[in-house]
Amino acid sequence: MLSRRTLTMSGIGALIAGGALARAWAAGGPAAKFEITKTPEEWKKILTPAQYGVLRDHGTERPFTSPYDKLYEPGIYNCAGCDLPLFSSETKYDSKTGWPSFWKPLDNALGTKDDRTLFMLRIEYHCRRCGGHQGHVFEDGPKPTGLRYCNNGVALKFVPKAKTPS
Ligand SMILES: [Zn+2]
Repeated sequence: MLSRRTLTMSGIGALIAGGALARAWAAGGPAAKFEITKTPEEWKKILTPAQYGVLRDHGTERPFTSPYDKLYEPGIYNCAGCDLPLFSSETKYDSKTGWPSFWKPLDNALGTKDDRTLFMLRIEYHCRRCGGHQGHVFEDGPKPTGLRYCNNGVALKFVPKAKTPS
């Protein structure tokens, strides 16, 4: 098993090609401490393979595959890993990218880090409670923030707003 600590500079080039470095980062370095931590085996018991691939393995779902991409019902989008509320339908918009997009997260929901995979710098964001990877944030979003939180739908769990009894 490769651990981050045993990586040498000479090994990094080879690892980037194999995607192992991306996975090492996604797994969280020694500094990453989250309220909810589980072993990969424990996560695999509660997540589908698709959810695991994004949340724990830093994957990206294919665009236009998530039913949440075109969903605009009122409600809250929770982390699919630990159920922490991350986004409100009130900040969701159609970015036409094929991924559910938001211009603002809920308060105290996300953590971010630099992501230098794919040979460019992007800002990765994740659930601040379990560290589950959610997506990347870009600066081409709508007003008032100008931000676009490009989220993997499979990493979210939509909770419809309770309808008031008629
Ligand atoms: Zn979470």
